[in-house]
Amino acid sequence: MQDRLKEITEKNKVRLEEERKQLLQDIAELQESLKAEVDIDEEEGDPELHEREKAQALLTAMQKRLEDIEAALEAIAKGTYGICERCGKPIDPARLEAFPEARLCLSCKEELERQSMRWRRPSRF
Ligand SMILES: [Zn+2]
Repeated sequence: MQDRLKEITEKNKVRLEEERKQLLQDIAELQESLKAEVDIDEEEGDPELHEREKAQALLTAMQKRLEDIEAALEAIAKGTYGICERCGKPIDPARLEAFPEARLCLSCKEELERQSMRWRRPSRF
């Protein structure tokens, strides 16, 4: 079991580092294109607004993911990788294989999701 975690950690480290590199590049490109498109016609409104909002949401999601990836890489460096940040129990290695940036065990993640659902405003859809 310990060996399996070690093996997954090694593999995930490579995956996370590659993904981090890719994300940094994507974020820079997206930021660049968001900057370039700010050209709003006051009378017409902003026909690109919807597109820009989508890009902005994507950017936020990518930055959040980058944070998770960096936290995972830090945990690998510190030797705390694979331990749930909330309850301190080991995270299922299969979960780590599927989600290398996972910081919470499945039950903590589900619990937090249930909590945030309660706080979320009813959506229009
Ligand atoms: Zn947990």
